[in-house]
Amino acid sequence: MSSKQSNKCVFCTFSLFEKQIIHQTKDSFLILDLFPNCKYHLLAIPKKHISNILEISDSEFLDLKNILKIGENILSEKVGINNFNLVINQGKKAGQEIFHLHWHLLPRTENETKNPLKTESKELRMLSKEEIEEQVKFLS
Ligand SMILES: [Zn+2]
Repeated sequence: MSSKQSNKCVFCTFSLFEKQIIHQTKDSFLILDLFPNCKYHLLAIPKKHISNILEISDSEFLDLKNILKIGENILSEKVGINNFNLVINQGKKAGQEIFHLHWHLLPRTENETKNPLKTESKELRMLSKEEIEEQVKFLS
């Protein structure tokens, strides 16, 4: 596992997102998503090239958590939104496109129905008791 900076990485190339920066801390940036899912869609990214959440150190993780909190406070104070989806796409099959960890902060308003965790094509179905038992047994 390498945490070294990649020249091809968008989030390691400051000039590519410099104008999107909302806030920064010691180890993290809070930026506007260039292709937003909703208005004020923000991203919290570590300054260091870390490809996924499993590679982040405890102190960098704490810093990232703090910048998410700052992002929530900014959106709460300036836009009056207090509901969020916090999403990390990890791996290509999960929709990760930039392989530098980025944590989506999606402000939600009650008028919006799109939720990234709810698929539009499928109705959500409640698990049966048997499925719960089987899956918990398998995973624990
Ligand atoms: Zn990077």
